[in-house]
Amino acid sequence: MSSGGGKKSRELFELAKKVTPGGVHSPVRAFRAVGGTPIFMASASGPRIHDVDGRDYVDYVGSWGPAILGHAYPEVVEAVREAVGRGLSFGTPHAGEVELAEMIRRMVPALEKVRFCNSGTEATMSCIRLARGYTGRKKIIKFSGCYHGHSDALLVAAGSGALTLGRPDSAGVTEGAIFDTLVLPFNDLPAVRAAFEMYAKEIAAVLLEPVPANAGLILPEPGYLQALRELTQKHHVLLIFDEVMTGFRLGPGGAQGKYGIRPDLSAFGKVIGGGMPVGAFAGRGEVMDYLAPDGPVYQAGTLSGNPVAMAAGLAQMRVLAQGGVYERLEELGRTLENMVCDEIRSAGAPVTLVRLDSMFCLFFQGPESAVRNLQDAQRCNTRAYGTFFHRMLEGGVYFPPSQFETCFLSAAHGPQEFEITQKAIREALRPKA
Ligand SMILES: *Cc1c(COP(=O)(O)O)cnc(C)c1O
Repeated sequence: MSSGGGKKSRELFELAKKVTPGGVHSPVRAFRAVGGTPIFMASASGPRIHDVDGRDYVDYVGSWGPAILGHAYPEVVEAVREAVGRGLSFGTPHAGEVELAEMIRRMVPALEKVRFCNSGTEATMSCIRLARGYTGRKKIIKFSGCYHGHSDALLVAAGSGALTLGRPDSAGVTEGAIFDTLVLPFNDLPAVRAAFEMYAKEIAAVLLEPVPANAGLILPEPGYLQALRELTQKHHVLLIFDEVMTGFRLGPGGAQGKYGIRPDLSAFGKVIGGGMPVGAFAGRGEVMDYLAPDGPVYQAGTLSGNPVAMAAGLAQMRVLAQGGVYERLEELGRTLENMVCDEIRSAGAPVTLVRLDSMFCLFFQGPESAVRNLQDAQRCNTRAYGTFFHRMLEGGVYFPPSQFETCFLSAAHGPQEFEITQKAIREALRPKA
């Protein structure tokens, strides 16, 4: 297969760098973790994505999660077309907001009230403010390796040692902004117990990705989420699930449905917007009612609940609610897993596949140590991943341009895509002569 030269992409990237920092509007798109220059896409349909250089890829990024039905799903596209004709934004309440909120509530029992916003970042940021306003406490616990968007208080990754106060992860985030953020290792209950002992009455909330999917894909150990629920309840601390990635992805009830946990608040994004910029946070009515205009916690958005975005979300969620999609995704996931594991085995490659339903990740390290937390994930051979990524591109398969991202299947993937993927993986895992 020809590499295509990537001429147009390269030209566009040169122009982009002149008008935009790093040439991209979100850093991971810049290919810094894998080398090379980003590919500019022209269109996407079903399980495929098409670049401006005339090449076609089997897509396992799915716009970083939203494209669960595949790209440009006809009913979603049609709903958007129809909504656009009625006006792009009203700045007033409208029926679409009520319909989508009702649908979400039907799918996830813990969500009594819902507020829409425009991104996952806004959703988690608002959950934290709400939790602090509701409890009258300041501190929050987050876990290293869990990503919750780029608001200041949450832009902290690893603390050295369980109870170290977080350090800023980004220039421009002040010590003050993260002073009340405690960072603990994931899958480590003693660390949480110790933090509760030390800061007993100061902790407002425990915030986590129930299935961390921003440091590769890390699974919660059996009983871990349940224990967090019990501990937080005992200490009157709110439990917040960041389901921006997992919501309506791991089954209709998200991770909370899958593991049978009822968090106090949940944050959503990605799938919920059908590809449009939508975020939402939701949970116990008593807590949600602390939000303005009923309560003292201010939160707002000029374009929140945007009618076109709501229409896209509704159309996608209707298909998901009808049933059948999650069963198909699990079946596809199992087929892909078997195929990839066969290829890894026959290549004798030091690679481990982690999969949960339609989410998966290839860790470039041997199977001898399971990846339980960020520290484990960081032992991966990121250079080997970079090589693999570029070989996959050559074989017509688009994986995320970083070892620390999760891959997504869509319901539109099928045998043809898997055939291309198998061929590409076989080449990609072959040791270089
Ligand atoms: C993507 C993501 C976010 C941030 O969402 P944006 O829409 O990019 O602001 C937050 N939390 C998790 C778990 C995510 O995967």
